[in-house]
Parts: sequence; structure tokens; C-alpha cells
Amino acid sequence: MKTSALPMVSLNQTSGMVPSFEQVLGGYHPLPLKAQSVSTLQVNVGKVCNQTCHHCHVDAGPQRTESMSKATIDKILEVLDRTPQILTVDITGGAPEMNPHFEYLVEQCRVRDRRVIDRCNLTVFYVKGKTHLPQFLADHGVDIVASLPCYEADNVDQQRGKGVFDRSITALQSLNGLGYGMDGTGLMLDLVYNPLGPVLPPLQVELERDFKEELEQRYGIRFNRLYTITNMPISRFWDELCEAGQLEHYYTLLLNNFNPLAVDGLMCRSLLSVGWDGRLYDCDFNQMLDLPVQPESQAWIDRFNLTELEHRPIVVGPHCLGCTAGSGSSCGGALT
Ligand code: SF4
Ligand code: SF4
Repeated sequence: MKTSALPMVSLNQTSGMVPSFEQVLGGYHPLPLKAQSVSTLQVNVGKVCNQTCHHCHVDAGPQRTESMSKATIDKILEVLDRTPQILTVDITGGAPEMNPHFEYLVEQCRVRDRRVIDRCNLTVFYVKGKTHLPQFLADHGVDIVASLPCYEADNVDQQRGKGVFDRSITALQSLNGLGYGMDGTGLMLDLVYNPLGPVLPPLQVELERDFKEELEQRYGIRFNRLYTITNMPISRFWDELCEAGQLEHYYTLLLNNFNPLAVDGLMCRSLLSVGWDGRLYDCDFNQMLDLPVQPESQAWIDRFNLTELEHRPIVVGPHCLGCTAGSGSSCGGALT
């Protein structure tokens, strides 16, 4: 793609020194970009995490205190009660299991017959008071999406912290023992890969094949699908890029690999993200950039209005280039 004729905007986390996302998108797609449905509610129950990964777009860690209250969870359940179009509740964080009301949220969503996804870092199962969770998740038929950026210990520990790889492997073996990732159980175990640095992920289908072979041969681990996710140039990864002087290089990489075929499947077009305080966003990335859905006055779970939200204009910025580069990227992996 030629970029020289496009006006440039200045570098910060919501408008980089690159053509704006809309300027690029407008060459291929009607503007504004609009949602097409709300079939998934992605609930970010807080920023508390037992890990402090280098690339974390949430800036999560043990010292964070933001955590969704039971009152806000009850408002989400009220929305589910009157919105059958929402089929999936995708629970994320931080480490979502660190929220004291996590099990309540899971139970109540399953009672309402929704598919529930737990975005799990695996090491949380070793936190005091959380060791029963693998069995709890299996008993409630919760799908697990677990982070494992490599099948080599050094690479995982470099990105996610010392000792994380070994504990992740043991946790995956335990999940297999409960039936997760095994044929015929219905217990889905998916893995998430993101690159270690400022590069695009490899082809998802090829990497999934490698992960399956390596994890089975080395550790006897089986799983269902591998999702490749592009590192978004925000939060901690943004800081890393700035420190390494690679911010412009990374944005240029994303821009040069803009893929119009990824636009139809962008997750913001069928997903709505709920923040720990009940605020609504187009996605978890916009949530971290403090860009609520528009109009902002309506961007709260207790003002949820499906008619307005399902075709809302989406708030976009240069970070969106992370979702449209290469094969495309979303919480469900590659888009093309
Ligand atoms: S486990 Fe996930 S939420 Fe926690 S610090 Fe790492 S990337 Fe962030
Ligand atoms: S970051 Fe991705 S998912 Fe979020 S609004 Fe931009 S394109 Fe949509």
C-alpha cells in the first residue's frame, strides 16, 4: 500500500504518526465502520493478575485493585435475561479468576444457557484458594482459552515470567486429565499465541500444527485450537516499542500489511466489551485506551440498549491496524 499521499497524524496511543485507520480503511470499506450484531459480551472483571507479563495490554498485575463488583455482575445478568441475541459471555481480565465473584458470574451465565469462555493464564490455578478451579470449570462446561506463546520454556518465561512455562505445562496436563482438549468430552481447550517482539504472528494453521506436534511429543498435551494474536501497540507493549525505538517501525509493519479481507470479521463488529466498572467499549483494546462506545452517555451496562448498540459506529484509532494486519487478529485468532 502507498502511504505517502495520506495525511500523517502525530504519535500517541490513540493516534499514531501514521495515516489514521479510517484513512486506510476508507479506501476499501464504507465509513464509519459499524457493528453488525452483539452476539458476544466480553466481560473484563478487573485488572488484578498473579502475573506481570511484558506485553500485557491491560497493564495487569498483583498490585492492581480494579475489580468488578457483584452489583455490576448482576446488571450484566439482567442484560442477558432480556437479550437472547447474546450467545457467549467471554470472561477476561487481568486473571479473571482473581475476581471474588468469578464463580458466581460463571454459574449464573451457565444457568442462563450461555456459552462461557474463561481467558485463563494457567498459573492462576496455583494461587492459594484457586486450586479447585480446573474441576469447577469442567463441572460447568466452561471453554478455556489459555495463553501459551511458545512450546519452549525460555521464550515463555522471557515474556510471562520465570517459572511460568513449567506451571503452565502442568496445568495443561491437569486440564487434559479432566477431559479438556480431548475428543468427545465437549470441554474445549484453546491456546493463544502472540509473538515475542514487534513482528506479525506466523500463519495460524501452520503454527497450530507445530504446537500440536511439539506439545504432544514433549509433554503428552492435547488441545483443540491455537489462536494467533497480533501484539497491539498499546499499554506495556507500546512502552517497550518506545524504549526500543521501534514504534514507527512496528506501525509501518502493520500499515504495510493492511488486509481488507480482515475487516468483515473484526471482533468489534459482533462483540461488546464491558469494563470492570460497567462501562461499555467496542473491544478490550479500546477499553484499555479509555475509548468508550459513542455516545458516551449511553456507554454503561445499566443503559444497555441493543437496538442502538448492534449497529453502532465503532470508535477506531491507529491501534486498529493491529487487527487488520496480515491474517487479521482477534480474541478468536486470525480472521482470514
Ligand atoms: S497473564 Fe494476561 S492479564 Fe495477566 S499480566 Fe499476563 S497478559 Fe496480562
Ligand atoms: S482495536 Fe480491533 S477490535 Fe478494537 S475497535 Fe479497533 S479494529 Fe475493532
